[in-house]
Amino acid sequence: MSDDSVGVYVHVPFCERVCPYCDFAVVAARRLSPDQEQGYVDALLSELERRAESYAGRRLASLYLGGGTPSLLRPASVARIIRRVHETFDAAGSVEVTLEANPGSLERQRLPGFRAAGVNRISMGVQSFSDITLKRLGRAHRAAEARLALAAAREAGFDQLSLDLILAAPGQALEAFERDLEEAVAFGPEHVSLYELSIEPGTPFALADARGQLRRPNETGVLAMLEQAEHRLAAAGYARYELSNFARPGFEAVHNRRYWERRPVLGLGVGAVSSDPPSARAPFGVRRQNTRDLARYLDCTGRAESAEDRDAEIFDAATARGEAVFLALRTARGLDSARFSDEFGSPPRGFWEASIDELVGRGLLEEAPGGDLCLTDRGRLLSDSVFQYFV
Ligand code: SF4
Repeated sequence: MSDDSVGVYVHVPFCERVCPYCDFAVVAARRLSPDQEQGYVDALLSELERRAESYAGRRLASLYLGGGTPSLLRPASVARIIRRVHETFDAAGSVEVTLEANPGSLERQRLPGFRAAGVNRISMGVQSFSDITLKRLGRAHRAAEARLALAAAREAGFDQLSLDLILAAPGQALEAFERDLEEAVAFGPEHVSLYELSIEPGTPFALADARGQLRRPNETGVLAMLEQAEHRLAAAGYARYELSNFARPGFEAVHNRRYWERRPVLGLGVGAVSSDPPSARAPFGVRRQNTRDLARYLDCTGRAESAEDRDAEIFDAATARGEAVFLALRTARGLDSARFSDEFGSPPRGFWEASIDELVGRGLLEEAPGGDLCLTDRGRLLSDSVFQYFV
């Protein structure tokens, strides 16, 4: 697949506190000291300088500051990062610049500064408008702060606002989730991301779950929430363009789409993942992940990196094929059979004839006359079991 653009992902690992379900590369830092902040941004920019060559000549399509909590950075640091990324890559038209923000009061005050720094899209980690749910999730903010932060983002001039909601939180009933949806819709963001709480090994929630202390909704309850979300958001004009993402027409996330379409992404920072473009040595591309150890990452700033600093997975054809199907089927557009065939030498049926017949027969997959594939409504609800057919 030819593509001359690049998306840049910048990971900021600091969080006010570490939530008990979180498995990201994060460290607790209630307030970042100026030195700590500058040291990390220096390391990021040094990594950008070292690695930009592998993406030389590509045009910048998107920049995403995620985490962690990037809104813990001061606007001047965010401006520094944005400026340097723009100096490194020419822009491919207008560039989507997203910053993930937590709805704390400190971050709320910084929103105008982030706008002035060049951020044009805010992804607000609301999670829920219920204080009980937020407390059970171990989140640092409360619902009232989320409401204030959303209003402040609009006041600061952000006309691209995404709101994160969580479902299947401990003790969360369908009615409570419906109230979250109603409030989200009433606020009217351009984009909504909806994540089912997942229990990651090694987290405090995994321990509590093993002891039977979490009281999570069962599978039927989760399916009811998902159905309700699709129905309510569709009625309010949001299309489910990817399994976890809903948008008003024209407001689909540019950066996130790069992952589903397997386009190159340069990931900077602790634990950041990069997707290198295909090359002669790796015709199906390479996925790299930076060390998740902050001290080791900072240590890379002044020296050449060693193999231990970054894991690299060179895709073979079979892994890349499975990945292409898995990612494309997550999207409403589905899998383009002709494009798949161009890359892998045969349409999906050439590799998974029996699986496709079975899934179509069970009403989980739809196959267009040209061989394009997409999940049916039922397939979306049972997507995990569909994906297992393509590994
Ligand atoms: S705020 Fe987000 S990134 Fe930070 S610890 Fe909580 S879930 Fe993890």
